[in-house]
Amino acid sequence: MSESGPADEARYRALSLWWDGLPGRLGARPSLGADIDVDVAIVGAGLTGLWTARSLLAADPGMRVALLESEVAGFGASGRNGGWCSALFAASDARIAREHGADAARAMRRAMQATVDEVAAAAAADGIDCRLAKGGTVVAARNAAQVRRAEESVAEARALGFGEEDLRWLDRAEAEVRLGAHGVLGATYTPHCAALDPARLVRGLAEAVERRGGSLYEHTPAIAIEAGRGSNRPLVRTPNATVRADVVVRATEGWTSTLPGEGRALAPIYSLMIATEPLPESFWAEAGLVHRETFSDHRHLIIYGQRTADDRLAFGGRGAPYHFSSSIEDGFDRVPAVHAALRDTLVELFPQLAGAAITHSWGGPLGVPRDWFSSVGIDRASGLAWAGGYVGDGVATTNLAGRTLADLILGRDTDLVALPWVGHRSRRWEPEPLRWIGINAALWATKVADGGESRTGKPSRLAAQVDRLLGH
Ligand SMILES: Cc1cc2nc3c(=O)[nH]c(=O)nc-3n(C[C@H](O)[C@H](O)[C@H](O)COP(=O)(O)OP(=O)(O)OC[C@H]3O[C@@H](n4cnc5c(N)ncnc54)[C@H](O)[C@@H]3O)c2cc1C
Repeated sequence: MSESGPADEARYRALSLWWDGLPGRLGARPSLGADIDVDVAIVGAGLTGLWTARSLLAADPGMRVALLESEVAGFGASGRNGGWCSALFAASDARIAREHGADAARAMRRAMQATVDEVAAAAAADGIDCRLAKGGTVVAARNAAQVRRAEESVAEARALGFGEEDLRWLDRAEAEVRLGAHGVLGATYTPHCAALDPARLVRGLAEAVERRGGSLYEHTPAIAIEAGRGSNRPLVRTPNATVRADVVVRATEGWTSTLPGEGRALAPIYSLMIATEPLPESFWAEAGLVHRETFSDHRHLIIYGQRTADDRLAFGGRGAPYHFSSSIEDGFDRVPAVHAALRDTLVELFPQLAGAAITHSWGGPLGVPRDWFSSVGIDRASGLAWAGGYVGDGVATTNLAGRTLADLILGRDTDLVALPWVGHRSRRWEPEPLRWIGINAALWATKVADGGESRTGKPSRLAAQVDRLLGH
C-alpha cells in the first residue's frame, strides 16, 4: 500500500469512532492506471464488494477478481455503522410471508440467523480482530404503544414457527437486568446479533481479499458501468482505464444514485451516530449490557446502540433530512441538530450520562429501495450483477449477499440462490420534487407518531399510514 497524505489521514479518521480507532497509519492502495481484463469486476469496496470477492476467491482461488473503489476500502457505510451484526432484514417476515409464502419467510430468517455466525467464523478464519461479541439484542418497550408492538412482534415470530430461543418477551425485571435504561416496561430479546467494530471488520476483510489474490484499486471511481450485449462483455469505465469482465457487480449502496442511469434506484438516506467517552464501571453496574447486547426501543424512528469493546456507548438513529436529488456530500454526515437530538435521547435513556463527554459524531448514507426490500441478483444477458438496498441492516446481510452472488456467478444451484430476495426488483423512486417531499414528510410523520405515542400510550395511526405508503 502506498501511504496517503496527512490530509487524507485526517479525513478518513474523522469518518467514525471506528476509523479513529484503527491502529497504525492509514494507507491508500494504488489507483487503476491501465486497462485490465478480469473474470469479475466489483464496483465498491465496502462489505458487499469484499464479501463477494472473498466468496468467489474461496470457491475458485484462480479467479481474477478486481475491486474498484472511489475512495478507500470501507469508506462507505461499512466503516461507519452501528456494528450490529444482526439477523435483521429490511423487509419484515410478515411481508415476505405475504408475498412469497411462509416457507420462504422462514428460510430467509434462518439464513440471516446463520449469517451472524458466518461473519464471526469468516473473521476468525481470516484473523480479523473486529472485537465481536455475540450478546444478542434487547429492544425495550417504554410506553404502552411500544409494549403492544413488542407483543405483536413476538406473536408474529410464533406464527411463523420461531420459538423463545429466537425471540422472547422479557418482563420489566428481566429487561432491566439486560438494559438498565430509564422507563423500561419490558423488552424483546433475540440472541441473533453480535456487536462488532465495523471498520476493523471491513479493513481487515480488504487485506484478507488481497491475501486470497483479489486486486483492489482505490481512488478509482467507476464513471460508467456498461452492460454486455451479444459477444461484447460488460465493462466499467474509470477516469484513466477501462475494466472488461465476464461479470460486473454493482456494490455501491448509498452512492448508487450517482451512477449513470441509476438516479432513482436507491435513495441515500442518512443515519447519524455519536459515541461517548469510555464509561466507568459504576455506570455499567446500572446500565447492564453485560454481554455487549446491542439495544434499541420499539419507537418508530429507528435508534440503535452498542456497548463498545472499550466501554463506550456508540449510539445512532435516523432523523437526518433526505437531501434533494439524492445528493451526497461529506458535510451531510454531521447535522448538529440531529447529533444533539441523539445526545438528548441517550441521556433520556441513561440520565447518568448527562455529564458524559461525546467524543465522536459522524454519519453516512444508507441505500434505501422504494419498497424497502433488499435484493441480490444477476442478469445473465448483460453480465451485470448487484446487491444492496439493505436500509440499516447491511452488516450481516452483505455477507449473505456475497455468498449468494458467488453462487449466482458460478452458476451453482444452492439453497442461497432460492431465497426470496434473489432477483427481486424494487420499483424506482419518484422523480423530484416528489421524492424529496415524500421522504421528508414520512420522516416528519414518524417523529410526530413517536411523540404522540409517548404522550398517550396509544398506537399511532399516522405511523400505520406511513408504513402502508412505504409498503412495510
Ligand atoms: C450510520 C450508519 C449506521 C448503520 N448501522 C448499521 C448496523 O448497526 N447494522 C447493520 O446491519 N447495518 C447498519 N448500517 C448499514 C450498513 O452499514 C450498510 O448496509 C452496509 O455497510 C452496506 O455495505 P455496502 O458495501 O453495500 O455499502 P458501502 O459500505 O456504503 O460501500 C459502498 C462503497 O462503494 C464506493 N463507491 C461508491 N460509488 C462508487 C463508484 N462510482 N465507483 C467506485 N466505488 C464507489 C463507496 O466509496 C463505498 O466504499 C448503518 C449505516 C450507517 C450509515
